[in-house]
Amino acid sequence: MSPALHAFRVALAPLACALALGASAPSIAQGPPAAAMPTSAPAASEPSQAAKPKLLLAISIDQFSADLFAQYREHFTGGFARLLTGAVFPQGFQSHAATETCPGHSTLLTGVHPSRTGIIANTWYDAKVGREVYCSEDERDPKSTAKEPVVSNWHLKAPTLGDLMKRANPAARNVAVSAKDRAAVMMSGHDADAVYWWLGKGFTTYQGRSVSAAAQAQNAVTDKLIDAGAPALPVPQWCETVDRAVPIKDFTIGTYRFPQKAGDYKTFNRTPRIDAATGEMAVRLVDEMALGKDDVTDMLSVSFSATDYVGHAYGTEGVEMCIQLAQLDATLGKLFAALDQRGIDYAAVLTADHGGIDAPERLQLNGFPSAQRIDPALTSEALSRAVSQDTGVTAKSGQLLYGGGSSGDIWLASGLTAKQQKKVVEALLIRLKKHPQVAAAYSAQDLAKVPVPRGEPQDWTMLQRVRASFDPEHSGQVLMMTKRGVVPGDPTPSYTATHGSPWDYDRRVPMLFWRKGMAGFEQPNPVETVDIAPTFASLIGLAEPLGTWDGRCLDIDGSRADTCRR
Ligand code: ZN
Repeated sequence: MSPALHAFRVALAPLACALALGASAPSIAQGPPAAAMPTSAPAASEPSQAAKPKLLLAISIDQFSADLFAQYREHFTGGFARLLTGAVFPQGFQSHAATETCPGHSTLLTGVHPSRTGIIANTWYDAKVGREVYCSEDERDPKSTAKEPVVSNWHLKAPTLGDLMKRANPAARNVAVSAKDRAAVMMSGHDADAVYWWLGKGFTTYQGRSVSAAAQAQNAVTDKLIDAGAPALPVPQWCETVDRAVPIKDFTIGTYRFPQKAGDYKTFNRTPRIDAATGEMAVRLVDEMALGKDDVTDMLSVSFSATDYVGHAYGTEGVEMCIQLAQLDATLGKLFAALDQRGIDYAAVLTADHGGIDAPERLQLNGFPSAQRIDPALTSEALSRAVSQDTGVTAKSGQLLYGGGSSGDIWLASGLTAKQQKKVVEALLIRLKKHPQVAAAYSAQDLAKVPVPRGEPQDWTMLQRVRASFDPEHSGQVLMMTKRGVVPGDPTPSYTATHGSPWDYDRRVPMLFWRKGMAGFEQPNPVETVDIAPTFASLIGLAEPLGTWDGRCLDIDGSRADTCRR
């Protein structure tokens, strides 16, 4: 269609999507009645695009940036290659500033920004608890500690698509699996039938729930693999150009091939093998929970974590990430083949919770000379000392400020008077704004006055990006945004690179939709991860009131069929 018409469609899409679904209805209701659907079930080989898919499959690749997708997409032959024949949006946006795992996963199936999910960072300082609280923790449980949090969905303030599907029809199943608890929790939400994540030696679930036969079987298989060990992974020919050692302090990255030492559970989840185990676990859950088998559409969320662990340990531009993506391509291929084998008509989306950037030591070698590690003067400990000196204000706990991690939130210690708080915030803002590595610093008060941004995410100002992941209940009293290419953290052999910034290398992620028989296309115009929930909801005729989502329905069929008008 013409660019002008396209722009018109983009502008009208949220309204059209809502109207088509009868979204003005005050309560949640199924859209088109069953009688409006084709009466005979389509053959598995060519499902009618008018029929609802039997299974919605949402895949998150932790830390899979749009940059990595662009770099390696031509080489994929497995699951990624299948997705490349669908609707390809190479520029999806996790539009907000706090590009961490928990906020990012919270946007994927709620369809709202972290300012509405309440998941503003992976952890936040809670003065009432007297420590940093984890995003998927129930700190009200006396057994919950910072080191061993009791995993919970209670911080998530918005319903997920799975929650809404079950509200509309309790026969719908809502299932999630990941190596990370926060990924599985944020994608499944409040009303999930099965939620699994990896903990130390195997897949586990919420306290009070039993580990199912499927999980036990998968854990037995994984135990066997870890106990036996495995040889180094092969280096595809297309990985040879990045196979080069780069020194970081007293160790190197760039050439590791993931040999699996027998009995080594500790590093297992920093290898592509944890993704393979997650994919196998997903298939076992499909069987155990009978997903995609009846006329009520089910929801399966799978978040593959190894790309993130590999990115943190070895950076994004060495042979490690190249091997990881080659292996993941195969793992995805097996997952799709298993669903095909079972004759399940599914619609899939693949995206990421955030992007990432390489280790600054290699960035400097690779044409990005201004990349650098963060100045230790910007840690909360150093800032506490400096601001105490500036203001004369001290905290009873000894430390005046907390946080200062990759989300940029800085929290004040409890017990300060309103006057002291004002003085500390002002002094901190002055100090931060003078620092050469700081791009911007905002007070919570300033952020609360800004409307949550809408529209094209690539044009948002820094302030708007920060606003989209700001929630006055948990965000810091000050938010610090470092300059492009400033990488937080002191490197260790398991942590050399990270993400969390408001810059596009951390915000941009691919969004790939696929369903058998659909007319694929490539659309480089930016979209948002909050568009996924309304897009999937439309596929299954799930009507929700206007304002349910921050995103809009995307027509994922390139033919005349419009998946937003059902
Ligand atoms: Zn992540």
